[in-house]
Amino acid sequence: MLSVSEAIQQVKDAVVGVTAQTRDLHECWGLTLASSIVGEMDSPPFDKALMDGYAIRSADLNSGIREFEVIEEVTAGAVPQKTVAAGQATRIMTGAPIPSGVDAVIKVEDTELLPNNSNGQRVHIRAAAARPEQNVLRRGATFRAGSQVLPAGRMLRAQELAALAEMGASRVAVARLPEVAVLATGDELVGIAEPLGPGQIRNSNETMLVAQIREAGALPRPLGIARDDRQHLRERILRGLESDFLLLSGGVSAGVLDLVPSELAHAGVEKVFHQVNVKPGKPLWFGVLRRAERPCLVFGLPGNPVSSMVCFELFVRTALRRFMGVERAEPTRTKAKLLHAHRHKDDRETFFPAALDVSGGEQTVRLMNWHGSSDLQSTVDANGMAVFPALPRDYSEHETIDVIRWGK
Ligand code: AMP
Ligand code: MG
Repeated sequence: MLSVSEAIQQVKDAVVGVTAQTRDLHECWGLTLASSIVGEMDSPPFDKALMDGYAIRSADLNSGIREFEVIEEVTAGAVPQKTVAAGQATRIMTGAPIPSGVDAVIKVEDTELLPNNSNGQRVHIRAAAARPEQNVLRRGATFRAGSQVLPAGRMLRAQELAALAEMGASRVAVARLPEVAVLATGDELVGIAEPLGPGQIRNSNETMLVAQIREAGALPRPLGIARDDRQHLRERILRGLESDFLLLSGGVSAGVLDLVPSELAHAGVEKVFHQVNVKPGKPLWFGVLRRAERPCLVFGLPGNPVSSMVCFELFVRTALRRFMGVERAEPTRTKAKLLHAHRHKDDRETFFPAALDVSGGEQTVRLMNWHGSSDLQSTVDANGMAVFPALPRDYSEHETIDVIRWGK
């Protein structure tokens, strides 16, 4: 049976490259850059003052001059008209271009404007010395024209958007978001607002998967419930295959009404794998519908809620991130110290609902009281999973293990 890492690799290999779309920058929050962005201007675009104060030649102050003739005042957005000569200063505000001739700005708190007299406006500088370049930010000091602002694959947060805005990149190429159809299967399912009849349960997986798709930044398309009936399932599957991804839940195990694999095959979806050596989620099915236009990637998720959820986190999220061109698609594993001993009895790689905490400096992991793949309740106090490799053994308190934070 495939290991989790082999299955993740096969999922990644099945995703074709990113489709780029040009969008207005203000619509790009949370999207991923489809190509790298090179800046065409220096930042800052001119030599500028970092403080409100007086622009002078540092050598003047360092040679003992204390009183300077104020020849001009420059506010942010204005342009200096005069060159500063020996013994002169220009009153300058933060963000204003510094005049030629100077190499330092003395902050206003270290100065005293003297009463006007026949010598014009003069300022006394209390500071004993000035460092060349003090409070001056030279053109191009933080960014040089022609260098890379951001690499392809970067998800655009506030900072990235601001960096692009500064460069005047008002339209950028981002990865198209995948549309992800969700189809729950099962004769026992009813909608979440329905009363339960005998033997029935509510379709909680649709709500969960739609939320996970949103969290991943993709576009959910819920399709309701398909019955365990070939005709009904077939018709719903065809609808779902119109999207970039189709997630089915249920019907992929070995029960007599587990019709999903055969109906997917009937619809022309090529199986990539069925079953992974993972707990929960072993019956996972994955395949691709190849067609002239873009393919559809199909996941048959096991119906048990925790299985569906974990398979989404490990495999579906990876595929969606790959589709969106995110720099690192697969889940990030970090290290954490187990807060209590644990007997791991399974020979499947196990993803155990857990509470991860970094508040004490070192990351710790506390396992939930987990009753198996249908135990949704154990996941509501969890924020991630402890990972136990496919080898049964006892883990002691304080042992360091791998963990995965959900949504990362
Ligand atoms: P299946 O994979 O179809 O054999 O379903 C496995 C278990 O998951 C059964 O107990 C189902 O009742 C339950 N299940 C299946 N689909 C859903 C769903 N959409 N929401 C909640 N539970 C489900
Ligand atoms: Mg079923």
